[in-house]
Amino acid sequence: MAYEISLAGKTAVITGSNSGIGLGIAWELARAGAHVVLNSFTDAEEDHALAQQVADEAGVTARYIQADMSKGDQCRRLIEEAGRCDILVNNAGIQHVAAIPEFPVEKWDAIIAINMSSAFHTTAIALPMMRSAGWGRVINIASAHGLTASPYKAAYIAAKHGVVGLTKTTALETAKEPITANAICPGYVLTPIVEKQIPDTMKEYDMSREEVIENVMLTRQPSKEFATVEQMGGTATFLCSDAAAQITGTTISVDGGWTAL
Ligand code: NAD
Repeated sequence: MAYEISLAGKTAVITGSNSGIGLGIAWELARAGAHVVLNSFTDAEEDHALAQQVADEAGVTARYIQADMSKGDQCRRLIEEAGRCDILVNNAGIQHVAAIPEFPVEKWDAIIAINMSSAFHTTAIALPMMRSAGWGRVINIASAHGLTASPYKAAYIAAKHGVVGLTKTTALETAKEPITANAICPGYVLTPIVEKQIPDTMKEYDMSREEVIENVMLTRQPSKEFATVEQMGGTATFLCSDAAAQITGTTISVDGGWTAL
C-alpha cells in the first residue's frame, strides 16, 4: 500500500467526545495510534473511565479534560492543558428547533458559542502548537446543514455555515505549511441522541421503527441509511493521512447523497 495510516506519536484533541460522533472519532484515531484527549463539560467518573477504556483497548494514552465549549476561556484552556495538539477535531455541538420569532435568545447564543465560536478559540491555541511540531490537522465537524438549510434550525444552520467559512480561512492561513483544515459534513448519523428519538416518534405517528427511519428521519438522505460514527472516524483518520496532505479548505460530505439532491 502506498499510503499507510499511522498516527503513532500524534496527539488528537476531540471536543465533545464523551458520546456520539466525537467518541467514534476518538476511537478510530486511537486505533490508528494517536494519543487522544477526550472532552465534555461534565466531570463524571464515567468520563474518565471512558478515556481509560480507550487507552486500554487501543494501547495509546488517553485523557479526559473537562472544559465547557460554550466559554471561550475554557476552550483555550482545553488545548493548553492538553499540552500538545497535532490533530484538532472541533466536534462539540447542540441543537434547538424553533421558528425565528420564537427562537430563545439564550439558545441562539449557546449554539453559536458551542457549535462555532469554540472552534475559533481552540484553533487559535492549537495552530502555534502544530507549527512548532511541523505538522497539523484541523478537522471541523460541520453538517449537511453547513451547506444547505432547513426551517426552524436558524442558529444551528448559521453556526454550521460559519464553521465551513472558518475552515476555509484556517486552510488559507496555513496553506504553505504542512497543516490542513477541512470540514466533515455528516448527514443523519445514528448516535444515542437520535436512537432515543425513535420510540417517541413511533408512538406520535403510529409508525413502525422502519417507517420512522425512512419517512421521518431520512426523508432527505437518499441512501435511506444512517451514516455511522465509525464512518465519521474513518473519514477523520483519512484526513490525517499523507494521501490527504493536499486536501485543505474543503468540505467532505458523508451524507448518503443529501447534498446531491
Ligand atoms: P451528541 O449529543 O452525542 O454529542 C455532542 C457532544 O458534545 C457530547 O459529547 C456532548 O457532551 C458535547 N457537548 C455538548 N455541549 C458541550 C459543551 N458546552 N462543552 C463541551 N462539550 C459539549 O451528538 P452527535 O450527534 O455526536 O453530534 C456531534 C457533532 O456532530 C455535533 O457538532 C453535531 O452538530 C454534528 N452532527 C451530528 C449529526 C447527527 O445526525 N448526529 C449530523 C450532522 C452533524
